[in-house]
Amino acid sequence: MKEHLFTFMGTAAGCGVPSFFCTCPACEEARADPTLARGDCGVMVRRTGLPEAETPTVVIDTPPDARHQLLREGVHHVDEVLFTHCHFDHIGGLGEYEYLVGLVRGGVPLPAFASAEAQAGIRAEFHYMDWCLDFQGIAPFETHVFDGVRYTALPVTHAPGTYGYLVETDATRLFYASDTGPLPPETTEAVRGVDILAMDATFWKRNWNAEAHHSVQECIEEGLALDAGTIYLTHLCMHYDEPITCAELETYLEQYGGRVKMAKDGLTLPL
Ligand SMILES: [Zn+2]
Ligand SMILES: [Zn+2]
Ligand SMILES: [Zn+2]
Repeated sequence: MKEHLFTFMGTAAGCGVPSFFCTCPACEEARADPTLARGDCGVMVRRTGLPEAETPTVVIDTPPDARHQLLREGVHHVDEVLFTHCHFDHIGGLGEYEYLVGLVRGGVPLPAFASAEAQAGIRAEFHYMDWCLDFQGIAPFETHVFDGVRYTALPVTHAPGTYGYLVETDATRLFYASDTGPLPPETTEAVRGVDILAMDATFWKRNWNAEAHHSVQECIEEGLALDAGTIYLTHLCMHYDEPITCAELETYLEQYGGRVKMAKDGLTLPL
């Protein structure tokens, strides 16, 4: 039985869609239809069926749009934060949590999990929040359990110390890797055959940062090769190189018969 929900809080690569400085077809499509807009990448895992105040809630990353994303999902509290890495598009909204700790948690620091490298970066950028975060290291391949959900930190190909998280319940195995080039072999073996893969698909067509990201096609090919049940494209830029609209990408994905989907902000999957 599926007792948890996995929500895409944001699904864009850094600068979002629309970007304030961009008038490409993808950004204009999102301006015309805000349901197609994307905030920076993050996800949330919650238990179902409990009153809001008692619902165990974990977020992975605190993107710059965190406040709007949490408001949109009707979230009143967060119990733990896991970080993939310390780039701005994944941590820029951490400052919002200072108020949560001060006003809601009575000053009790928020448990936070990150690699040593990510922790150092976050501490440097948010030096004034030391009192808010109870950093607990999580080593590569280490599993952290919260509310019956297992989170295993798996190294990916991005900035040093970047993780993807294998998120497992008794019903579902999901691998979330918002920022990664080709997966390292040990990580590939650890996630082979996952029910759900939510992975970096930053570029449409040309990938000009192949050491750190996937193109849409590379994400699909790697996902199919590791026998993922359903593949969700996330960290979508839609305009770093050749722009593509959601309408065009939906049409392109029809060839996969529903096995490959675009992640969307607010999309929620049972776990
Ligand atoms: Zn990113
Ligand atoms: Zn654009
Ligand atoms: Zn990054």
